Amino acid sequence: MHGGEVTIHGVSKRFGQLQVLDDVTLTIPAGSVTAILGQSGSGKSTLLRSINHLERVDDGFIAIDGELIGYRQDRDTLYELKEKDILRRRVEVGMVFQNFNLFPHLTALENIVEAPITVRGLSRDKAQAEALELLARVGLADKARAYPRQLSGGQQQRVAIARALALKPKVLLFDEPTSALDPELVNEVLDVIKELARSGTTLIIVTHEIGFAREVADTIVFMEGGRILETGTPEKVFNRPDHPRTAAFLAKVL
Ligand code: ADP
Ligand code: MG
Repeated sequence: MHGGEVTIHGVSKRFGQLQVLDDVTLTIPAGSVTAILGQSGSGKSTLLRSINHLERVDDGFIAIDGELIGYRQDRDTLYELKEKDILRRRVEVGMVFQNFNLFPHLTALENIVEAPITVRGLSRDKAQAEALELLARVGLADKARAYPRQLSGGQQQRVAIARALALKPKVLLFDEPTSALDPELVNEVLDVIKELARSGTTLIIVTHEIGFAREVADTIVFMEGGRILETGTPEKVFNRPDHPRTAAFLAKVL
């Protein structure tokens, strides 16, 4: 699989009076793994949602492999792609949410085949064959016909990961993928993400699993108050943070 380079440039976002993202600039190399850390409310989810077109930013732009994901806002000037180009580009970014967001009335297999059929235009047979491969990859080959309620949280999250992979995204976003899981189910999901980290897809993961971030990430990004306070290798950020507030945060969570 081929990963995309993500460019985030001068991105700002307000909700009313609240500045949720404040001039965020970051380049994420193709195929790399980035872990975003920071306290609740620091803007992590809003940043991910902006990359995935779920939020519209007020300023700046986001690009994948140098191509805008939708639009670019420079102060008063808006440049926007045509809708069909925006739809085409959306498929390049997949997202996995804290609460899995599976369709409850569809089996694991049906959850996965839906989008490849409607978005990629695959035949049902081809989509099912690919979905079965993906289920095997996340260790759920025997759960194709199970409904979400028949699966554990860890299994549901692995189906959600398979579903995201079915669109062959260049970039995969994870927003606290293990926060809703019982502790004993966390590792089965982290193991799947670790395997993906070797696949070449660009991964951006918001997590409170510090040990996991340290082990898997190429880059750690620490956010506070809508800004990036610090970025660097895990070795650098964990051992020799530039900012005292990064050190204070890590001291609390480690
Ligand atoms: P994090 O993921 O780091 O916890 P978020 O990006 O979810 O942070 O939120 C950042 C801030 O923006 C928080 O103060 C949150 O309450 C606020 N916020 C998020 N979404 C909305 C929204 N749709 N409307 C108003 N405020 C929001
Ligand atoms: Mg969040």
